[in-house]
Amino acid sequence: MKAIQAIRGMKDIPPAETPVWRELEDAARAVLSGYGYRELRPPVVERTELFRRSVGEATDIVEKEMYTFDDRSGESLSLRPECTASCVRAAVEHGWLRGRGQRLWHIGPMFRYERPQKGRYRQFHQLDVEALGFPGPDVDAELILIGERLWRRLRLGALRLELNSLGSRAIQDAFRARLVEYLTRHASSLDEDSRRRLDTNPLRILDSKNPDMQDLLGAAPRIVDCLDDESREHFEGLQAMLEASGVAFSVNPRLVRGLDYYTRTVFEWVTDELGAQGAVCGGGRYDGLVADIGGPPTPATGFAVGLERVVALMQARQGAASDERPHAYLLAVGEEAQRTAHSLAEQLRDALPRVRLVVDAGPGNFKRKMKNADRSEAPLALILGEDEARENRITLKEMHGDGGQQSVERSQMVEILRGHIGSDD
Ligand code: AMP
Repeated sequence: MKAIQAIRGMKDIPPAETPVWRELEDAARAVLSGYGYRELRPPVVERTELFRRSVGEATDIVEKEMYTFDDRSGESLSLRPECTASCVRAAVEHGWLRGRGQRLWHIGPMFRYERPQKGRYRQFHQLDVEALGFPGPDVDAELILIGERLWRRLRLGALRLELNSLGSRAIQDAFRARLVEYLTRHASSLDEDSRRRLDTNPLRILDSKNPDMQDLLGAAPRIVDCLDDESREHFEGLQAMLEASGVAFSVNPRLVRGLDYYTRTVFEWVTDELGAQGAVCGGGRYDGLVADIGGPPTPATGFAVGLERVVALMQARQGAASDERPHAYLLAVGEEAQRTAHSLAEQLRDALPRVRLVVDAGPGNFKRKMKNADRSEAPLALILGEDEARENRITLKEMHGDGGQQSVERSQMVEILRGHIGSDD
């Protein structure tokens, strides 16, 4: 029968990679709790309407990338393409925004029907961090400091921070008209994609990587030159705070993001180490979104980290993730020994809660079981044969080095194994 394969753009994270993922998730948890952020776990499916209203009708995400389907009662649902909308929905729905701010985070899978390539998948994972109810640049700076601390903790070098301000919505509307006017004058130099966006989402054209359009876009009007006073002060305030904290950044006047809800601050952390998919983290302020979703007018800001891309950077850096090989492999030969193997293993796990002990399972003679022990990569085999079972002893065999072995009383086992676990325990 033909074997069934995973869906294109959705990949398994194999056991050899999960230690790196866990290191990343543990680091994120530790850093975020150090800033007073609390974990939220929203569902992965939401009403389609939520994303239409938040991410925006004219974005690539909503227009052509969502996994949307009718449930059995005919309601249109979507797998979430991002998580800000869910965090805001939850905060509004549960009344968490009444008179106070909320600092929230979430890690989980997101779904976008994009063209899969290295660093771009149809199911991918994000760490999402949201600060709801804070109007000033101070919390924008806090989010950037969180990112920087996370990169440092993960020992990632060379991430660049790019900043821009998109101003208020009124400014964006006025700027959009100016930009469309400029680009229409040069319509013959636009590629097909940009011509299409001219009607739907002209700001995104600024983001184009097409080398033939760079001169045209370099000379285009810049939104930072059109900011209202309040947005300019906000942007300058953020830059001053980052300078005071020693965070390096550059202002990229062409930085726009793929979602409609951003106002004022937008930022990205980028690397040159991952080829075309160099954006590791993106975020910004979305002061209108809470009201768009039906909540009280509430300023808010946040960011999302692409975990697959961070994992790729972690795999390339010096120093491996934590070792998950077992400390010992217990194998029993003969009926009597096999009956007692689990109870011995349980005693060892009781005495050494952090021991990684694998008990051989399945049929096979001594030779086959030793082969299993070898494959497990455990440095120590605990052998329980007929004689050992009868005499209440166990044979320890070093799997590496000289392969030496010794027979010991079971009561000595805990101390010997403790010595092997060493600083792990
Ligand atoms: P966004 O939600 O579009 O602002 O993206 C935030 C971050 O998520 C990006 O900087 C990427 O690191 C990551 N990301 C977005 N889309 C994908 C994807 N299809 N595959 C892998 N990572 C992604």
